[in-house]
Amino acid sequence: MRLGRSRSLTIETSSKRLVKILTDYDTVEENQGYTNVPEKHIMRATIASLRRHPEPIIFKLVDHLNPTSGLRKARDLANAALNKPSSVQMCFDPCSNPEPGVAGAKLSAMTQALAYKSIAIYENERKPVQTRRSTSVNLAAIQRFCEDTYQKVPSESEIWKGLRTRDLDKKCQEFCWKLIHDAYFVGKRWLHIPGYEDRGYCKHCDNVVESMDHILFECNAVGQKQIWELTKSLWNKRQSFWPAPSLGSVTAFKFINDPNADTRLSPGDKRLFAILAPESARLIWRLRCERVIEKENKNFSRQEIFSRWKSMINGRLHTERLATNTKFGRCALPPLRVKKTWEGLLENEDELPDDWSGAGEVLVGIGVDPPS
Ligand SMILES: [Zn+2]
Repeated sequence: MRLGRSRSLTIETSSKRLVKILTDYDTVEENQGYTNVPEKHIMRATIASLRRHPEPIIFKLVDHLNPTSGLRKARDLANAALNKPSSVQMCFDPCSNPEPGVAGAKLSAMTQALAYKSIAIYENERKPVQTRRSTSVNLAAIQRFCEDTYQKVPSESEIWKGLRTRDLDKKCQEFCWKLIHDAYFVGKRWLHIPGYEDRGYCKHCDNVVESMDHILFECNAVGQKQIWELTKSLWNKRQSFWPAPSLGSVTAFKFINDPNADTRLSPGDKRLFAILAPESARLIWRLRCERVIEKENKNFSRQEIFSRWKSMINGRLHTERLATNTKFGRCALPPLRVKKTWEGLLENEDELPDDWSGAGEVLVGIGVDPPS
């Protein structure tokens, strides 16, 4: 950033917060070394340049709708800069100036989480982490799915952020994370190990090399198709729109949306889908591992699959009811949220008391018919 150093400077902005950040030496952002600020390098370089400016700097708060302010022109210039080819580098580089810029985080404001984050940022800048090719391929497939099905394309960071939700069980979070990174040791990975090549092929489908896509969404082994049918039948009690099971529907559950509907899905519907899709996919994976490792690839019966699926869903429902207990304080799940998630799906729902979500002594389970 280059400023005319012999002239006073007037900066127009519509953000009081920005003025505070640029002028106050005791903000949270300053004390934390701007670690949690997006585009932290630009912010640090800007503040360092302003603090070195020898002449007075005047901040002018203006209405962002005021046509006489220069905000619109500044925004146009910023957009023009963003549209420049990526090879054009911006001139904000605090390291290029030998003068001291902005200090890092203060020790008095340091927390363990902030320290970890700062170290991770430092390490990543020193040696940027290369994205795995399979991760990029999977993220692109998820984005294509969202565009085709939900008519919205989430960014890669939005997809990752979508997984960090309390609605998702920790094991399901890990499962989705590994799915996107293609971290499971199946299929083609066995083909390179002499003597174990046959483990790469599915024993239930003709000469097909296994993959997580095949196991979860295509395999002929008993369980895969049935579990998705059961999940769909449960979901259809609430919504007719059903996204076809795929890597995108399982990992990008947060973006579910019926593009042809007049109204958006309710938070309860979205939360239900966030539970059903990843939990069902993980159950298919667990059953596949049991079948291959413990049952010498012998198929489960349809009744067994039904019982395991129903038990998994009821288990999750039970956990949610326990989580409404007030002994968990601020971490307790609001009973109304649990109710809105599961309403319309329960057995003998009309006979349940109003506070069934928190009443531990009441037996509650989902109402689904066993396979014929
Ligand atoms: Zn198969």
